[in-house]
Amino acid sequence: DTGQFIQRDETCWEIEPKGAMHVPAIIYADAQLLQEMDQKVYEQITNVATLPGIVQAAYAMPDAHWGYGFPIGGVAAFDPDQGGIVSAGGVGFDISCGVRTLHTGLNIDQLQPHKQALADALYRTVPAGVGSRGKIHLNHKTMHGMLTGGARWALDQGFGEQRDLERIEEHGCMAGAEPHYVSPRARERQQDEMGTLGSGNHYLEVQRVAEIFDPAVAKTFSLRVGDVVISIHCGSRGLGHQIGTEFLKDMAMAAAQYQIALPDRELACAPLNSPLGKQYLGAMRAAINCALANRQIITHLTRQAVATVFPGIHLGLLYDVSHNTCKLERHMIDGQKKSLFVHRKGATRAFGPGHPDLPAAFKEVGQPVLIGGSMGTSSYVLCGTKESEQRAFSSACHGAGRAMSRTQATKQWQGRTLVDQLAAKGIIIRSPSMRGVAEEAPLAYKDVSAVVDIADRAGLARKVARLEPVICIKG
Ligand code: 5GP
Ligand code: MN
Ligand code: MN
Repeated sequence: DTGQFIQRDETCWEIEPKGAMHVPAIIYADAQLLQEMDQKVYEQITNVATLPGIVQAAYAMPDAHWGYGFPIGGVAAFDPDQGGIVSAGGVGFDISCGVRTLHTGLNIDQLQPHKQALADALYRTVPAGVGSRGKIHLNHKTMHGMLTGGARWALDQGFGEQRDLERIEEHGCMAGAEPHYVSPRARERQQDEMGTLGSGNHYLEVQRVAEIFDPAVAKTFSLRVGDVVISIHCGSRGLGHQIGTEFLKDMAMAAAQYQIALPDRELACAPLNSPLGKQYLGAMRAAINCALANRQIITHLTRQAVATVFPGIHLGLLYDVSHNTCKLERHMIDGQKKSLFVHRKGATRAFGPGHPDLPAAFKEVGQPVLIGGSMGTSSYVLCGTKESEQRAFSSACHGAGRAMSRTQATKQWQGRTLVDQLAAKGIIIRSPSMRGVAEEAPLAYKDVSAVVDIADRAGLARKVARLEPVICIKG
């Protein structure tokens, strides 16, 4: 039932504030995506609009689907001076999950004869799957270094190159991490998981640039049709998950203490200015560093694997963006600059031209926005816009978004059959779990091209390039 929405423009649907809502709930979609969207998304985004200190609106991106408390594809900003809150469910369990894309300098024709060899090398070198373990064991000291230093720490350990850092959000290191709020259990879970992809939805994908939409920006991003790139999608593994789980529990109890009325228990949160709120922020930022270090180490492993097939090749970063975070940012509210805590859960930050935090290379055009589709369909590179700041605190979609649950998907498809079908289309899948592959069937996701078109038409981010999968290492 989309009757409760007022259509503001072609791509913008609004539920006006009513009842306990402080601000409107806004969904970016066309009529079809809105129709297909889980009813739960409306309910969840409306609930988010009731949380204390929320400003402007609660947003759902065009790839939104049902999540824990907040929808995946949800964006909400809170003002600490207006009793604003932070919510563990508003960040998500896989803290700082994100995508990093690497240039290879190879053309698809150069790759073609070596595809199998490259797939083998990558699958051998990058650990994938539930509970996969890496070669690095963290002790107390190195754990601390990792939690405070992020990709910078990884670099100091010999993983990567100095110039990688400028192509990572926060220059590879999230400030304000407080490792003493990361529990012994969270640390223990991470001891042997650095440099691993994790399960199902996470991937390392070799892709070819299939189409360019904006030649000028594509040039700035060094993307040409036929180029081979490699994208890595993963997050903070067991550590992030443990932090999310523990703080959700603590926040559920604190909500009563802070007299926050929750329309849904899963929206558990704590005031930004409370001790618990600050503890969560400190631990979450440490988990952001864990994710940044993880993708940095995987990059190093990827470089090693690629070098065995293409000796002497150099893999440079296009960019590294997270899509599960809460970040303190400056935004214009009613003509005034404010410091706000922006939750993006399954939503990509998408700073436009001129943003002071962007690397020099992207200052004029806006940042790369890296969007996965599925192992059998397109993925996209978009670019931040000026108008996105007003539309959704400079945020865009993060993927196609699930169209059905994992359980539903496994009833409909078999992993082995999917692998064979994709092989016939020239796409090599390597995964330790055929059940995982079934859960990730391309048709279990929405149509990524439709989702990205809405993001583009809504001005959340601009389309730059379409990528097609060649090799996918699935967790
Ligand atoms: P999430 O972070 O929500 O787990 O996933 C982000 C997005 O990645 C999903 O919405 C989906 O569109 C995309 N995705 C999932 N698996 C794959 C894959 O194997 N390859 C690519 N390119 N995208 C994927
Ligand atoms: Mn993740
Ligand atoms: Mn993710």
